[in-house]
Amino acid sequence: MKYISTRGDQTRRGFSEILLEGLAPDGGLYLPVAYPKVDDALLSKWRGLSYAELAFEILSLYIDDIPAADLKALTAKTYTKAVYGFDEITPLKPLEPGLALEALSNGPTLAFKDMAMQLLGNLFEYQLGRRGEQLNILGATSGDTGSAAEYAMRGKKGVRVFMLSPNGRMSPFQQAQMFSLQDPNIHNLAVEGVFDDAQDIVKAVSNDLEFKRKYKIGTVNSINWARLLAQVVYYFAGYFYATKSNAEKVSFTVPSGNFGNVCAGHVARMMGLPVEKLVVATNENNVLDEFFRTGTYRVRGSAETYETSSPSMDISKASNFERFVFDLLGRDGARVKALFKDEVEQRGVFTLTAEEFARVPGYGFVSGTSTHANRLATIKDTFERFGIMIDTHTADGLKVAREHVSAGVPMLVLETALPAKFAETIVEATGRQPERPSWIQGLDGLEDLPKRFVVVPKSTQAVKDYIVQHCQD
Ligand SMILES: *Cc1c(COP(=O)(O)O)cnc(C)c1O
Repeated sequence: MKYISTRGDQTRRGFSEILLEGLAPDGGLYLPVAYPKVDDALLSKWRGLSYAELAFEILSLYIDDIPAADLKALTAKTYTKAVYGFDEITPLKPLEPGLALEALSNGPTLAFKDMAMQLLGNLFEYQLGRRGEQLNILGATSGDTGSAAEYAMRGKKGVRVFMLSPNGRMSPFQQAQMFSLQDPNIHNLAVEGVFDDAQDIVKAVSNDLEFKRKYKIGTVNSINWARLLAQVVYYFAGYFYATKSNAEKVSFTVPSGNFGNVCAGHVARMMGLPVEKLVVATNENNVLDEFFRTGTYRVRGSAETYETSSPSMDISKASNFERFVFDLLGRDGARVKALFKDEVEQRGVFTLTAEEFARVPGYGFVSGTSTHANRLATIKDTFERFGIMIDTHTADGLKVAREHVSAGVPMLVLETALPAKFAETIVEATGRQPERPSWIQGLDGLEDLPKRFVVVPKSTQAVKDYIVQHCQD
């Protein structure tokens, strides 16, 4: 399988070439030249495979430059009960008839990002070892991405992580999760500023191409194709867990921010998975809901981006959205470039033509918005009726899912984090502290562990200096 850019550059690259890369050289995102199709016979063959075997089958359709035996070993090593707590890896938790949660957040950092990031850690180590190379991952986080990246890369040969976070602004649990890591290849840099300042420093360092090349700087942000590909697997797994035969369809509701999670659902559907609807759930930052209702995509500045109680969805520019639009517009790279480069990057908005927007229903997308009050009510109701505590992001998903259930089609709501990560709002909703998962070691007393981090000023040079001093250890 080869990969092309969404902005018209037709150069075809192999999986291993794009694995360690971010954007394509023309500023677009990578997508496979065509989606491999699964038919009824293949679906039947896959039904009943373990999660790791299923992951191997799906990944093999997209990766032809890693020997099959190696890929099989990588998926087997990644998707284990020891890491994810359950044999099914992503088990279903039934609520009322026809509605269930699919648990994606049982990995080491209690959020769905572990599903892909753990694989990425193993793939990076494999690939760097094969090439005899080193990689310094530089990122900025407000919580979930940074911890998932650190837990995936800790102790991995050839990889170092330099993770910037806004000093003192993460939740105590998130801070403790990241800063308690003692692995020498993990570096926590607490920037004296807000998340956007940390993000701006990462961008400034990445834009210094000479520095980037000399110090082998890479990223693991949500536009990475391998991350998206790893997420495709749990749409298939959820489908098999929820149905008895391939004649049935299911719908998925996805709490969305950067459109990475739900974009994987789109890919699964393009491959032929029988999906009826993909429901995009947003919080008060409802850029995507607005698009699916109106055909206008209007990104917002930081002044218009609200801080909410589902913070991992506080995103006003959905970095993976361009992939869906590329498919929607019949893979017209020139049109995508005009929309995203000329319109979004210049004016922050585009509107599809009526004819273009009319194609959206064919892709099965619908959407909805959830607010803080909705989250509290949904968390309380789910706990009272089912004895299940859900986190704030999953609550946004569940609230919106109920607006789109259709008779006879199971609706799966993707559970994107565990409530232990967002205790404050859970207490507000239910009056109780959320439990910490028993299968993850070291969570009790996490906040009391020694913390390993350095505070750096809001300065690109300071971060560069730190990297230069620490990229040889
Ligand atoms: C990252 C994240 C999301 C948003 O996922 P996208 O792929 O950015 O749409 C939702 N919920 C949680 C808990 C997350 O960590």
